[in-house]
Amino acid sequence: MKYIDPHIHCVSRTTDDYIYMARAGVVAVSEPAFWAGFDRSSAASFYDYFRHLTDVEPKRAAKYGIEHFSWLCINAKEAENVQLSKEVIALIPPMLSHPRVLGIGEIGLNKNTRNEITTFELQVDLAARYDQMILIHTPHLEDKHKGTDIICSILKNDRRIRPERVLIDHCEEHTLRKARECGFWAGLTIYPVTKVTPPAGCRHHGNVRNRHVDG
Ligand SMILES: [Zn+2]
Repeated sequence: MKYIDPHIHCVSRTTDDYIYMARAGVVAVSEPAFWAGFDRSSAASFYDYFRHLTDVEPKRAAKYGIEHFSWLCINAKEAENVQLSKEVIALIPPMLSHPRVLGIGEIGLNKNTRNEITTFELQVDLAARYDQMILIHTPHLEDKHKGTDIICSILKNDRRIRPERVLIDHCEEHTLRKARECGFWAGLTIYPVTKVTPPAGCRHHGNVRNRHVDG
């Protein structure tokens, strides 16, 4: 079976992982921009990260016969710094015409703070102005439900955003319905244990994508 992994962070994957993915039938991946495991010190650091995503990683993936595509943004974990966020957002428009860039993502909220919401709105505006698809990261923390509600209402209130071009990712049993009711695509993060397991009572809807790797 051949399949696409729609959400993976290849920059933190080893060459062995690529071998296993290719062996398992992965023919293409899409990699959202995300947190590096530490807060970056400047927009220049993001510039190199975007080069890594758009130029370096596609070449690495190609060695294993895998097509690599990416999404650009400043992620929610670093969005608390609004000034830095603005500098990073300013870097993105010239890169949107890159043939391997799919859109803006994964944007969203982490702790649902005022600053995170400001940065999120700036990036929704960026996507709208450049007619880009949007990949949404919903909080992994206890406020996932509230964060998903805030994200959905901001997106719904922007008339320029077409719901069918938005994927709400990391949905769980209690947020899946909200995303679907708003007309967005919904992604489930599958874990071996804990979230979205049969005992947790998940019922799959239409337009739900599954995947095995998350970040
Ligand atoms: Zn991710």
